[in-house]
Amino acid sequence: MAKTRPGTGAAQPNPKPPVRPSRAEAEDAVRTLIRWAGDDPKREGLRDTPSRVARSYEEFFKGYTVDPADVLRRTFSETDGYDEMVVLKDIRFESHCEHHMVPVLGKAHVAYLPKHRVVGISKLARLVEAYAKRLQIQEKMTAQIANALQEVLQPQGVAVVIEAAHQCMTTRGVHKPGVTMITSRMTGAFRDDPSTRREFMSIIGQSNTDRLANV
Ligand SMILES: [Zn+2]
Repeated sequence: MAKTRPGTGAAQPNPKPPVRPSRAEAEDAVRTLIRWAGDDPKREGLRDTPSRVARSYEEFFKGYTVDPADVLRRTFSETDGYDEMVVLKDIRFESHCEHHMVPVLGKAHVAYLPKHRVVGISKLARLVEAYAKRLQIQEKMTAQIANALQEVLQPQGVAVVIEAAHQCMTTRGVHKPGVTMITSRMTGAFRDDPSTRREFMSIIGQSNTDRLANV
């Protein structure tokens, strides 16, 4: 259960809907969608589908049960003066677009320049997961990850770049497979110091910062 902590801004999880429907209501909703699609939810192959979908939803959207600030809570100050960039790249994630509820598959690159504190590197991956496993738009997710890191670690700067393919563009609508959307959010030294930003971009294999959509 996510805690509400006033003043922690972006590290807070999204507010939850006031009343969570029951599992039976969720499964009924799936039956309705099956009928809407034109099939019969009572036929053998579809009989267990509503419960499978409900279980899948628990997995797809488990980020709502995670407080991102909790993920980062345990930090280490014994860094022996380490003040170079910490980068975790190619963090694979699966999310769902909040407009069409279809998968968004991509990878995130997350970096920070420590000031006093560092965090276990697996926590960066868990932070990405906490925001990915929700209904999302890529721009918001990019900003949320950066803001949570900035707020909890208070480093000299944070950089987050996300590259993702949106199935709402590849399997429906404009049907454009192979299109990747790239978003970035830079704070502090990554925003203000071109050489820091260049170092980060070359580590993650992005040389041209101009083509990034800054959020
Ligand atoms: Zn979409």
